[in-house]
Amino acid sequence: MKGKTDPWLHINPIRLIDMFMELVRIDSPSFSEHEIAAWLTGRLIALGLTVERQTYSKSFNLIGRKAGTVSGARSIMLSSHMDTVEPTKDLNLIRDSGIIKTGGTTILGADDKSGIAEILEVLHVLKDHDLPHGDIEVVLTSAEERGLIGAKNLDFDSLASRIALVLDCSGSIGRVVLAAPTHDVYTMSITGRAAHAGIEPERGTSAIKAAAKIIAAVPDGRIDPNTTANIGHIHGGTATNIVPKEVTIIGEIRSHDTDSLQRTKKAIFDTARRLSKKNQVRLQIEETRQYHGFHIGQDDEFVGLVKNVCEGLSITPEFIVYGGGSDANIFNSHGIKSLVISSGMQLPHTTDEYIKEEDLSLAALMLLGTIKAIAFDTKM
Ligand SMILES: [Zn+2]
Repeated sequence: MKGKTDPWLHINPIRLIDMFMELVRIDSPSFSEHEIAAWLTGRLIALGLTVERQTYSKSFNLIGRKAGTVSGARSIMLSSHMDTVEPTKDLNLIRDSGIIKTGGTTILGADDKSGIAEILEVLHVLKDHDLPHGDIEVVLTSAEERGLIGAKNLDFDSLASRIALVLDCSGSIGRVVLAAPTHDVYTMSITGRAAHAGIEPERGTSAIKAAAKIIAAVPDGRIDPNTTANIGHIHGGTATNIVPKEVTIIGEIRSHDTDSLQRTKKAIFDTARRLSKKNQVRLQIEETRQYHGFHIGQDDEFVGLVKNVCEGLSITPEFIVYGGGSDANIFNSHGIKSLVISSGMQLPHTTDEYIKEEDLSLAALMLLGTIKAIAFDTKM
């Protein structure tokens, strides 16, 4: 049996599951990554990596580096994020029929600790069997769940890799994200005029009324096949006896198509400006780009390499266009071709989150296969 003798298939499922369970037991909501980072630093050093901590104002990222043993092989980056969404307090871990889940009062944190455990297992296998490989950079970010903040604060000059696998997609193993949208967020501040609602309402101009007309009129939902828009937050008014002076509206636009993004934004802002004028309120708009989108073709050489790895492992590759962002958006905009692949996490960001034990192993095999393919890649 080939599987018994080929060291590139020598994943240790028990060790991998143990590492995963240990990782999810370490509470690490965004900006509270110290404990998990200390654990990871020890582990990475024991595996023969050098570890750098890149700090920024609110937290830090960990970069592990393992020097290659194959000259001329490309450097590859493997990435996951250390933080999780909440709730995480009083985790009750349950292992049942090949599935790891919680008691239902917290999230599991497989997003993204499954990815971290899989990377660690791969490093173990490389070390145990002294397998040949190119340079490996392990990038473990913080505060991904708060708007990719860790990734945005990485020192990109310190990273040598031009290709990356980011283990931060849910669903079956073999899912590969080839495109993600550009994401803009805007805040509209509407200012009317306050007045006593019972004594002299005539003196007032209701910001709530103007906001209601704007919200009702702007395009939203699925604008076209590439673009979505949503108003997700409104805030304003103080008391029933005051004609409300101020309202804040926060919305977003996501698109895989820059022209459509600009058109949609213009339509929303123009409508808001026209209705503000008509309703005699002041309007101030601020917008911020959360991240740039990316689009990698199926004919791309790295995509082809990952596809071959999947097929060699009897994993069916599934190339998808994604509606959400990840650290890969930031990496791609800095010139690191980054594919987001499934780590096996299921129903992330919910208390029903779970992972199949066998998917942890399958994802680790896919990573190992990619490292092997890069090491022996003669095209480069
Ligand atoms: Zn994630």
